[in-house]
Amino acid sequence: MKPKLSPAYQGSMLMIVAPSGAGKSSLVNALLQEDAALKLSLSTTTRAPRPGEVDGKDYRFIKRAAFEAERDQGLFLEHAEVHGNFYGTSRDWIEAQMKTGRDVVLEIDWQGAEQIRGMIPEVQWIFIFPPSFEALEERLRKRGQDDEATIQKRLAAAHIELQHAHEADFIVVNDDFEQALADLRHVVAASRLRSGPIMARNPALLRRLGV
Ligand code: GDP
Ligand code: ADP
Ligand code: 5GP
Repeated sequence: MKPKLSPAYQGSMLMIVAPSGAGKSSLVNALLQEDAALKLSLSTTTRAPRPGEVDGKDYRFIKRAAFEAERDQGLFLEHAEVHGNFYGTSRDWIEAQMKTGRDVVLEIDWQGAEQIRGMIPEVQWIFIFPPSFEALEERLRKRGQDDEATIQKRLAAAHIELQHAHEADFIVVNDDFEQALADLRHVVAASRLRSGPIMARNPALLRRLGV
C-alpha cells in the first residue's frame, strides 16, 4: 500500500539530502534539539557503526541478509544502496507519524528522496551544499571516522549526489554553520505554513470563514 498525504495530514514531511560531510547530521541534530515537534526517521543500515554511534539512536544496524529479508517483506518505504551499503526507511514508522500529524525529517540519499517524492508529492526536499569540494574533503577528514578509501568513495559520490540538487525545493549552503541553521529554521517554518497542513489544523477557523 502506498501512503498518500491525506488532506487531513497536519504535519510536514522534510527530506534532507547532501553529500557525505556537507554537515546534514550536525544541522539536523541542532534543529532537533531546539524544535521538539520535529521527529527524525531512524534509518536501518548494513553499514558498520562508526566509533560512538549507537544502535537504535543513530541507525538501526543490521546484517545484509536481514536487510534483504525485510526489504523483500516490503518493510521499507524506500531503500537504496549508498557507498556500497544498504539504507532504508521504515514504512510502519512513517505511516504512524503521518497518522498522528507529526512533522518528520528524513536524512536520506537522493535515490531514496526520488522514491519518496514519487509516493508523497507534498514532501519538501532540502539539499545541503558544502561551500566547496575542498571544504567537503576537509570536513570528512576532520570528522575522523572514515578510512582513506571510504573518504575517496564518498568524495567521488558527492559529484553524482550534487547533480540532483535541481530536484530539491530548497538549497541551504552550509558555509557558516549558524547561518545554515537559521536558513533551515526558515524552511521548517515555511513548510508549516503551507496551505494543506494549515487547513488540516484549523477546521473551526475554516468553518467560521466559510472556506
Ligand atoms: P553521512 O552521509 O556521512 O552522514 O553518512 P551516512 O552513512 O549516515 O549516510 C550514507 C548515505 O545514506 C547518505 O546519503 C544518507 O543520506 C543515506 N541514507 C541514510 N539513511 C537513509 C535511508 O533511510 N534511506 C536512504 N535512501 N538513504 C539513506
Ligand atoms: P554529514 O552528516 O552530511 O555527513 P556531518 O554533520 O557529519 O555531515 O559533518 C561533517 C563534519 O563537518 C563534522 O565533523 C562537522 O562537525 C563538520 N561541520 C559541519 N558543518 C560545518 C561548518 N559549517 N563548518 C565547518 N565544519 C562543519
Ligand atoms: P553515512 O553512512 O555516512 O551515515 O551515510 C551515507 C549516506 O547514506 C548519506 O548520504 C545518508 O543520507 C544516506 N542514508 C542514510 N540513511 C538512509 C536511508 O534510510 N535511506 C537512504 N536512501 N539513504 C540513507
